[in-house]
Amino acid sequence: MSKFIFVTGGVSSSLGKGLTASSLGRLLKLRGLRITMCKLDPYINVDPGTMNPGEHGEVFVTDDGGETDLDLGHYERFIDESLNRNSNTTTGSIYSSVIAKERRGDYLGKTVQVIPHVTDEIKERVRRLASDDLDVVIVEIGGTVGDIEIVPFVEAIRQFRRDVGRDNVCYVHLTLVPYLAPSGEQKTKPTQHSVTELRSRGIQPDVIVCRSDQPISEGLKRKISLLCDVPAQAVISAVDAPSIYEIPLAMHEEELDKIVCEMLRIDLADHEIDLSAWEALVDRVESLERSVRIGIIGKYVNMPDAYLSIVESLRHAGFHNSSQIEFDWIDAEMVPGEIGADRLERLDGIVIPGGFGERGIEGMIAAAGIARERGIPLLGICLGMQVMVVETARNVAKLDGANSTEFDRLSPHPVIDLMAEQIDVSDMGGTMRLGAYPAMLASGSQVASLYAAEVASERHRHRYEFNSRYKARIEDAGLVCSGTSPDGRLVEFVERPDHPFFVGTQAHPEFKSRPDRPHPLFRGLVEAALERAEGREPRLLDLDAVH
Ligand code: GLN
Repeated sequence: MSKFIFVTGGVSSSLGKGLTASSLGRLLKLRGLRITMCKLDPYINVDPGTMNPGEHGEVFVTDDGGETDLDLGHYERFIDESLNRNSNTTTGSIYSSVIAKERRGDYLGKTVQVIPHVTDEIKERVRRLASDDLDVVIVEIGGTVGDIEIVPFVEAIRQFRRDVGRDNVCYVHLTLVPYLAPSGEQKTKPTQHSVTELRSRGIQPDVIVCRSDQPISEGLKRKISLLCDVPAQAVISAVDAPSIYEIPLAMHEEELDKIVCEMLRIDLADHEIDLSAWEALVDRVESLERSVRIGIIGKYVNMPDAYLSIVESLRHAGFHNSSQIEFDWIDAEMVPGEIGADRLERLDGIVIPGGFGERGIEGMIAAAGIARERGIPLLGICLGMQVMVVETARNVAKLDGANSTEFDRLSPHPVIDLMAEQIDVSDMGGTMRLGAYPAMLASGSQVASLYAAEVASERHRHRYEFNSRYKARIEDAGLVCSGTSPDGRLVEFVERPDHPFFVGTQAHPEFKSRPDRPHPLFRGLVEAALERAEGREPRLLDLDAVH
């Protein structure tokens, strides 16, 4: 049966709880343990699907179409396991279930209360993740202890240990140890307060992970140990790392994985750790000799977390090519006015990411045109692909007024349109095409050669599709449909064979890139961008070979 690790946070948000939990996950996996992860989010939205990425960061999509918190992206990238919609639970989804049960009469006339009904539902969601095939379930609780919404979650995880037994649960608490320059000291008081808050809810942490900008001395660890009643070796120093991928090694150095295993009575002798592959990755990350400049042209550029998986995917492709990625965040609304062709031409590559709504669309279309005309490598993702199609329709196929009906319902040439009749609506969670769908790749195409496969499965999250009525006219204009749904009706990939790299996908490939296994499309973009940066002859594909 699975054991459980609960990761809570105190003092402040954004301390890197998700990364700490993910790093621990990776270390346990490297010890040969079978693990999964999940996030409990105390906010009231039923899922993050409706949340503004400009405020909350990207919505991470799982294979089964779950719209989840971006921390699940860290989990998947670190532990390299595919998660699912059950890997993220919010207060809203808990209450939806509890209220549905109440309406069905499942509570047999009882008064429905936070304890036990809401807490039981939370525990059930966690318990559901466990199985005989998993050794450890790591559960991160979003927010910080002391938040009003977190109380039922803390209560539920407190009860959980009693339910499943002491040795099957470990509580890890993440806090901040600030350095106060005037006194020249690191301060433990916020940690003490945070642990006091946790204890007031009945949880005594087993491990305290202290985030700080400088290492925590042994003396300070002893102090925290004494005041917070944890063994000194269970006070872990988590110093800011130059790359997030170094965090597992730093946590291992501090013996986090060993201590957690000891607390869970997992026999370390049976689970020796082999860090060599991860160390090799970190060596690569630390010795990037080349550099490439990639522009991200979108509408949430002031909130880079809105494009977190894209950023990480580009970095992964960089690691593979020994290249740093310099990001140029370009507000689509500034193109082509303030940011014109000359500025874009200084980029080595461009990504036009996904998005919803009209703002910035014309700038993205202009950018796609500049990239097409000037041979700048471009990867269009979801909305980005749609924009590439609209641009070709308008400027090459001369279909005046071509647009997506998302932005112009009366467009004379709706090259991107709702294709609801083409998809199985019962499977879409409402009106969006969500989750993994296969695509057949045209032989001889650039995407087929990048994927080195005839079929690719990618995750989707969109309503609109390439309007196949325009397929012939768009292809005649040089933008080839190089991947379609197995029935041939939905266009999944487009590319321009007369261009160094002009590839669009209706899917979100960024969700499947891994630090040690970069996604082929991002690798393709970064390699084309490096060729441009280093002034080599761009590789052209033979148009006739693509069918
Ligand atoms: N807004 C577009 C659609 O709904 C694209 C969505 C996206 O980029 N994820 O089809």
